[in-house]
Amino acid sequence: MALKPLLGDDNFVTTRLDQVIGWARKFSIFPYPFVTACCGMEYMSLSSSHYDLDRFGAAFPRFTPRQADMLFVVGTISHKIAPLLKRVYEQMCEPKWVVAFGVCTCTGGFYDNYATVQGIDTIVPVDVYIPGCPPRPETVIQGVMMLQEKIANGKQDW
Ligand code: SF4
Repeated sequence: MALKPLLGDDNFVTTRLDQVIGWARKFSIFPYPFVTACCGMEYMSLSSSHYDLDRFGAAFPRFTPRQADMLFVVGTISHKIAPLLKRVYEQMCEPKWVVAFGVCTCTGGFYDNYATVQGIDTIVPVDVYIPGCPPRPETVIQGVMMLQEKIANGKQDW
């Protein structure tokens, strides 16, 4: 939601504080990239000038979970690394969101075997699922926009 339509003729804002906080939060996402496999190549291309994730206020990765609010899970998750993923999630402060990047994170993909987690939502709650092997950057951008809407329209804790 743009701020301009909220401004009256006298240039004052009449809205709920929740809406303003949601609007600000959706353009201030700090991703933690939890990258394990080949989808990482597509994740890197997202930050290139061609796709420019910065337009969505989500291009500045943080490599400590305590400074991040969006967990970008990118690549195959094995049962061996699953406890680390859960620990990273638990170290993030609220509010926080999780994006499953690629079919391996959504369902295990074609790794239907004893070693692979069959969907990261068995470990952490997932807000947006982005399918594809790997997903095209345009698909990822669509996923980020869906997350932005979820952030803006969700309950704001403050
Ligand atoms: S979804 Fe495909 S590209 Fe992504 S990590 Fe799995 S196998 Fe690799």
